[in-house]
Formats: sequence, C-alpha cells, structure tokens
Amino acid sequence: MALPPAVELRRRNRAALLEQLHRHGPQTRAALTEALELNRSTIGALATDLAESGHLQETTGQSTGSAGRPSTLVACVPRSITVAAVEIRADRLRFALVGLGGEVLERSESALEAGADPIEAVAVITGGTASAAAVASVPGLVDEGAVAHSTELGWIDRDAAAELEAATGREWRVVDTATAAAVGEWSRGDAGEARKLLYLHGGRGLTAGLVIEGRAQRGGSIQLGHIVVEPGGRECVCGLRGCLDAEMEAFGLADGIEDATLAAGMGDAAARDRLRRSGEGLGRALGAVVTATGPDEILFGGWLRELYLSTAAPVRSAFAETTLPHLRSKLRLRTPVLGDEGALIGAAETGFAAVFEEMR
Ligand SMILES: [Zn+2]
Repeated sequence: MALPPAVELRRRNRAALLEQLHRHGPQTRAALTEALELNRSTIGALATDLAESGHLQETTGQSTGSAGRPSTLVACVPRSITVAAVEIRADRLRFALVGLGGEVLERSESALEAGADPIEAVAVITGGTASAAAVASVPGLVDEGAVAHSTELGWIDRDAAAELEAATGREWRVVDTATAAAVGEWSRGDAGEARKLLYLHGGRGLTAGLVIEGRAQRGGSIQLGHIVVEPGGRECVCGLRGCLDAEMEAFGLADGIEDATLAAGMGDAAARDRLRRSGEGLGRALGAVVTATGPDEILFGGWLRELYLSTAAPVRSAFAETTLPHLRSKLRLRTPVLGDEGALIGAAETGFAAVFEEMR
C-alpha cells in the first residue's frame, strides 16, 4: 500500500538530512535549512525526530558572530547506522566498520595464504559484526554481484554476492575495486567536484571505474586492460592479442614498479625504456576510454600511480595522439588522495548510498 504523501515526504526529508550530515559533517540548523531548501520549522521537526531516534545529536560548537554566542551544531551519531566494508585482494583482506558520518569504528587486516578462499576469510574477519549493509570490493569485472572475471583472484563467473551470503548468513553487495575507489575519492577524497570521475586501478590486471555525478556506473567496471594497444601483439589470457594487460605484463611492472622507477632514476636505460613504453600503452588505452566516456577527471590508482608519476610525459603525449582535443581541454589527470584506502572507503560509501536509498 502506498504511503500517504505527507509521510512519504517526511521519509525523504529524513534521508536527505542524514545524507547531508553524513557527507558534509556537523553543521548548524541554518546551514541545513539552506542546503536542503526546506524551511526552518521543517528542519527543526526533523532534527528533533532524528535526535529521538538516536541518529543525530546537537552539540555546542565554537562561538560565532559579534555577540559571541556559541552556535549549536547538528551531528550524526556514528553508531546509529554502520556499514561493513571489505576489500578483497589476492594476498590480503581489509575490513572496516564505518559509522554514519564516515568515522571508521573498527578496522582490521589479514593476510591470505596462497590458495585460501577469500569468501571464507571474509566470514572470519567480519565475524558477527552487525551493520545496516555489507559491501565487498573485488578486483575484476563485476556485474550485479557476480564476478565475471578476475585476473587477480583467478575467478571466472563466481556469484560472489551469493557465496558471501551463504558464508556469512547476511546480504552482501559486491563492487569492483576500481569503481569502489572512484566512489571513495568522490565522496571522501577531493574529487567531489568532478562531474564524471574515471578511476584507473592497477592491480594484477587493469580496470577502470566511472562515477557520474556521484553515482557509480551500473554494470561494472571498464576493462581497461583488454583494450588493444598493439594490434597483433602479445597473446592475452582473454584470447585477444596486444591487450594493454598483456603488453604491460611483459614489462613486469605489476610486481616491480618500484624497482623499475628506482632503476630508471639511477640511469638504467632498459628500465627507462620499459617505463616509457608502458606509459605510452597506458596513454593510448586511455584515449579509447576517454573517447567513449568523456570524463572531466582521471585518477591513477594502484601501481598505475607510480607509473603515472614516473611517466606523465609519455602518458600524456600518447593520450593526446588518440583523443579529440575538446575531450582533453578540461580534463584533469592526477593521483588519488586516499591512496590505497580508496576502495575500502568507497565500498563503505556504496553501502551508505544503498541505506539512504532504502530510507527514501
Ligand atoms: Zn586481453
């Protein structure tokens, strides 16, 4: 049965107010009134209501104005809504329990033995932790909770969401690492102004995630690593030839980017050549992705961060040769501010987005 309009409106306003505080931190009732475009009495009633339900609290902040009266700030109660986030990698698992407002309440990391099943390890690391949502990030091609392909984990067609649910007895969302990191940088990094944010993730295999006006692109990540950059080149595991992944693998940078940049810095000509050619391949693949998606900001994450920092010139020149000038003109290329934390934070934010959506 449909809810009466007034009840529905109230639900939507509650969700909007909590989301505003979650994203932008404690603020005054006046600031909330302006941000949400609601009147003062509506904000007042919502704040009272949400304080009674334990979701927010009002605290006295610093003195403001000439009268020196302390302003009252409305803030989230972190433990009132929590999200469990897990980042699955080939050799380790990271877990965070994140509270409303973005505070990390619990955190742990464990190494995965070779051959260990990450799904079982997730059940152990999350234990009996209760939360409003649970989200796992997985490196690879993810669609609707299923992992079609993960070079890093050696998975093909695994319904990770269903397996996680069976192992833990609760519902899970699964998102690819690149998209999770893009969400993390948009919501908790400094890319919140980007209209279309493209995050390139270098793990074992290269993927890219796209966030458009704050929302992750549905249908999984972009298979950056399987864009052909050398027609007729090296054979790739996917069956094509000359994929970026296959060409990059020949340079051994996924495991050896630090050694290569160090050697190049010491004047090793062979290392410099490997880095330059890798940068050119990346730039060409990027041209294809940018032509298809038209982002306004690109972040180089995982080991691509080091590659970009050491080869920005060849990346940019190969990119310029394969991309229309108007797509490049307002584009920013840079490295992510959250570093390796992006995917875990983004997995949590993916969970919060779902929680707010359900509240509406
Ligand atoms: Zn391929």
